[in-house]
Amino acid sequence: MPTPTLSNRIQLVQGDITKQAVSAIVNAANSSLLGGGGVDGAIHRAGGPAILEECKFLRARKYPAGLPPGQAVATTGGNLPARYVIHTAGPVWHGGSQHEAEELAACYQSCLKIATARIFESVAFPSISTGIYGYPKQEAAAIAVREVRQWLAAHEWPQRVVFVVFDEENRRLYEEALAEQ
Ligand code: ADP
Repeated sequence: MPTPTLSNRIQLVQGDITKQAVSAIVNAANSSLLGGGGVDGAIHRAGGPAILEECKFLRARKYPAGLPPGQAVATTGGNLPARYVIHTAGPVWHGGSQHEAEELAACYQSCLKIATARIFESVAFPSISTGIYGYPKQEAAAIAVREVRQWLAAHEWPQRVVFVVFDEENRRLYEEALAEQ
């Protein structure tokens, strides 16, 4: 079988991440791990109570002060088509001088590290921090694409990453970021 090139290990889909049939979807969670709005709310609604149960357990046992920004943790996917959810807490945008870019990059790295360690075939990412957390979408898309490309170039697993964008603007911005070398 031919070795897949980097570009055909990355896909862009406009739609609802909860519908993606991948090994794991990433949740742009908040550090409480106890659910929220946006994509977090959509994932808990679609995946059912088993996800929140595991999040509550992790919060109590492992992250009593909350999941620090840039870190990630995996739970079941509950009733989702994806078998697992990788929860990561993105940075809140404060103007760019409070390590937001490093924290956002760390989110992608932490999720990919879990995917590699657990030999997940495929992972779908939403555009972390670009909703309620207010991260500028163009910069966030550039970081997402850069981090995923770097990771895939150095690791066999996950074999495939899907960027799932919700809105037209993010779709265009990801297309542009992916078209750049
Ligand atoms: P954050 O708090 O990290 O900003 P949000 O959930 O508010 O998280 O938004 C992150 C991104 O996820 C936004 O670009 C938003 O449009 C997108 N989004 C919201 N719901 C979904 C969904 N069901 N599937 C994919 N992306 C979604």
